[in-house]
Amino acid sequence: MLGQMQDWPLLVHKIIDHAALYHGDREMVTREVAGPITRTNYRTIASRARRVAKALVKAGIKNGDRVGTLAWNTHRHLETWYGIAGMGGVYHTLNPRLHPDQIAWIANHADDKALFFDTTFTPIVEQIAPKLKKVKFFVALTDKANLPKTKLKKLYAYEDFIARVDDKFEWKELGENAACGLCYTSGTTGNPKGVLYSHRSNVIHALMAGQTDALGVSGKDTILPIVPMFHANAWALAFTAPMIGAKLVMPGAKLDGASVCELLETEKITMSAAVPTVWLGLLQYLEQTGKTLPHLKRVVIGGSACPRSMIEAFETKYDVEVVHAWGMTEMSPLGTLGSLKWHLADLPYEEKLDIKIKQGHPPFGVEMKIVDDKNKELPRDGKTFGRLKVRGPAIAKGYFKGDGKSSFDKQGWFDTGDVATLDKDGYMTIVDRAKDVVKSGGEWISTIDIENLAVGHPAVAEAAVIGVAHPKWDERPLLIIVLKPGKTATREDILKFLEGKIAKWWMPDDVVFVDEIPHTATGKILKTALRERFGHHKLPTA
Ligand code: AMP
Repeated sequence: MLGQMQDWPLLVHKIIDHAALYHGDREMVTREVAGPITRTNYRTIASRARRVAKALVKAGIKNGDRVGTLAWNTHRHLETWYGIAGMGGVYHTLNPRLHPDQIAWIANHADDKALFFDTTFTPIVEQIAPKLKKVKFFVALTDKANLPKTKLKKLYAYEDFIARVDDKFEWKELGENAACGLCYTSGTTGNPKGVLYSHRSNVIHALMAGQTDALGVSGKDTILPIVPMFHANAWALAFTAPMIGAKLVMPGAKLDGASVCELLETEKITMSAAVPTVWLGLLQYLEQTGKTLPHLKRVVIGGSACPRSMIEAFETKYDVEVVHAWGMTEMSPLGTLGSLKWHLADLPYEEKLDIKIKQGHPPFGVEMKIVDDKNKELPRDGKTFGRLKVRGPAIAKGYFKGDGKSSFDKQGWFDTGDVATLDKDGYMTIVDRAKDVVKSGGEWISTIDIENLAVGHPAVAEAAVIGVAHPKWDERPLLIIVLKPGKTATREDILKFLEGKIAKWWMPDDVVFVDEIPHTATGKILKTALRERFGHHKLPTA
């Protein structure tokens, strides 16, 4: 027997229609790539998104076509997303931090038919344009006055492109499983793989993210999504904020400590989300200037492990709650969030911190388990670790064009490639990426744990650990350190600082100091490059 409820397809453009109707005056602020701060609202965004849709149809974009975006978080980028999705197309976010050849490879693999880009990226677009065989036209996300001098052919200024049509456009009638968005994984090993979101998965994910114990946002919040729209859907904020009528402040191209701090102050931001490196920049800026964070209530930190010292700094110095989150492009991306459960709220602060540095617990809609090498489920005891597998309505069931099949099993579980523990309360702790863990004498050492402790040293700005070949133990940990400007520390200082904080056999066999640690396009430590550079480092213990 079937239920008798309405078959109301979960479509992304219904979110912006809802926002226009019920939160139409709610402000949206952008630090434009050209410089000034501009203000609009959800009613205007929805109207302009319809113009984008109509203009795309006029320009020959068809149902299911992928349209690339190479852009910062701005109101125009948001209009573009809703416009593309609403005409039946697929917005395809390209990460401008990748090498231009890789961007071209990804755009071609996705068969992008058009490319919207911010003017900051004009040199990249000029470089890759001759390689983009399927792209019929380019749209610079600006007006005619700010259009850069360029030899690019078939180029529109965005404002002209959408002025060619009016906003009388009926959204395309689509099934909720229709493709809606595409984002490629960063691909540190092998070619990047495409994750193809559906309207349904995006709407369900936005609902999941909007829960109090997830992102914890409400219509009263002013939200600053620093996490880029090109990094896994800006962690749902581009959908959840309009859904609930929260004010959105888009930071554009400037993500340094001073610029972020200025927006936090002038727009009275209450909630924000970003990777640890961005927060490191803000905290250093606050330390240097003595500024405080009077309006900010909560930050969500994820993408890489959030160090204990960072949570402590936000919470004890600036009275800002930290929610540590974990996720993946393949999961839309949110997988776990670290809100404290009811029975943990009254613990002493140090014990709360022990829980807050874990990656959190899954919201409804994410199933998780850990397994051994034979795919046998392992206990949820907070100690045993294994490969983390996940399942749910906003999690990929395959990669675009059939790539990477081995990550998906017959029971519909996706192998995250992360090694983790699960505890009895449902909190998950990432031990490491399976390929990064140090294998010492048959036992595993978590590089993340050592890195997080090392950055607690007052002179350390950033830390990375890799496994280096050892004649007796197979591999031993090497700690690579970047010192804060003007600070000094020796190998012995660092090792002494770690002593007693980790098991003896986890202690790094050596410490090296570098000026910079390389990062991936999504802000993670690029361990492959470190292994190339230090893989043959001679350990004093070898
Ligand atoms: P991406 O798809 O680029 O977002 O990368 C996903 C990967 O980033 C995960 O599989 C983890 O290895 C890592 N990651 C994300 N969030 C965290 C976190 N809070 N702690 C540790 N690793 C994380």
